[in-house]
Amino acid sequence: MSLSAADLIALDETWSTHNYHPLPVVLAEAEGAWVTDVDGKRYLDFLAGYSALNFGHRHPALVAAAVEQLNTLTLTSRAFHHDQLGLFCQELAELTGTEMVLPMNSGAEAVESAIKVARKWAYQVKGVPDGRAEIIVAGSNFHGRTTTIISFSTDSVARNDFGPFTPGFQVVKYGDAQALEAAITPHTAAVLIEPVQGEAGVLVPPTGYLREVRHLCDTHNALLIVDEIQSGLARTGTLLASTHDGIRADLYTLGKALGGGILPVSAVVGSRAVLGVLRPGEHGSTFGGNPLACAVGRAVIRLLSTGEFQERSTTLGAHLHRRLNALVGHGVAEVRGRGLWAGVEIAPGRNARTLSEKLMDRGVLCKETQDTTLRIAPPLVISRSDLDHGIDTFAEVLAG
Ligand SMILES: *Cc1c(COP(=O)(O)O)cnc(C)c1O
Repeated sequence: MSLSAADLIALDETWSTHNYHPLPVVLAEAEGAWVTDVDGKRYLDFLAGYSALNFGHRHPALVAAAVEQLNTLTLTSRAFHHDQLGLFCQELAELTGTEMVLPMNSGAEAVESAIKVARKWAYQVKGVPDGRAEIIVAGSNFHGRTTTIISFSTDSVARNDFGPFTPGFQVVKYGDAQALEAAITPHTAAVLIEPVQGEAGVLVPPTGYLREVRHLCDTHNALLIVDEIQSGLARTGTLLASTHDGIRADLYTLGKALGGGILPVSAVVGSRAVLGVLRPGEHGSTFGGNPLACAVGRAVIRLLSTGEFQERSTTLGAHLHRRLNALVGHGVAEVRGRGLWAGVEIAPGRNARTLSEKLMDRGVLCKETQDTTLRIAPPLVISRSDLDHGIDTFAEVLAG
């Protein structure tokens, strides 16, 4: 006896904690940019797992790398060396133009790791008095869900009832370099920032802002940590979104697409002068840098090193933005974003959740972020005709 979609949703509702509000669709299969529900209905994936599926579902090269590694060696812990870790770290450092890699699993762990490294650097290298290191972050940020990370969230839903909070963070307005400058003190260890704020609604900061942030960090001997977990790995048309702003960070956090849509793989990458402060026993993770994760990560790096996905994101992204901009005044108030990534601000009086539900009924899956924003982020493998099909459907739903 197979369970119906309604049965399966009821199981989730009963047995799984209610920390998400998913669309009422139950997926069972997927390939490329398409997913299929338990009743055999197909949907175009216009969300791509918040960029975790940049290469689409079950990319053959990624699945092959995973299967090969599953049949060879999956886990050693870090008590021993294995034959994938060094190669993964070398290849990721070379791809990103950095010198060292700290492998972790989830994005939040990468951000936590970057925070720890920045604090240690502040005490050992910059000479900040013990226990006084400060990290400056931007309002409306999203960096993950751990207790420390939500301590500097400005989203009351993410924070309320989860205190007491971790001290040592200053929040300043995103996009305002003067506010950042005013918050810098001799104890500032780092500035942690998203080059484009995804969860906040795909907010692109004003031109020149990130350059100014870089300049302020240089002037005040503070590290710049750029969180590229959602924006990076070809989503915006370049390997790293911060490249559009002509800057380099001291540390980057990577995640989501680094796991190829197969398993969680994250990393902090950066300079030897900063990541080199860590010593044995000071930080770690049982699963971080495991052979399976490294093998899949290496296959992801091979895909990214061709430039094909960056090119697809640039070309298809220009098409997406051109078409979405044509809907401004027809149910759309504003379109933001870069590459194959758009935050669509819905005209007043409409609700983004209702719109996602209508899109689902018509076979296109995407998700609201905030009440008035629809986030469109298809897998970078999507064909131009599938992309057009999704946008046509969106235009129909807006008109209907
Ligand atoms: C998703 C995300 C994270 C957290 O990643 P998880 O794997 O969900 O822990 C951190 N930063 C940004 C910018 C993200 O989009």
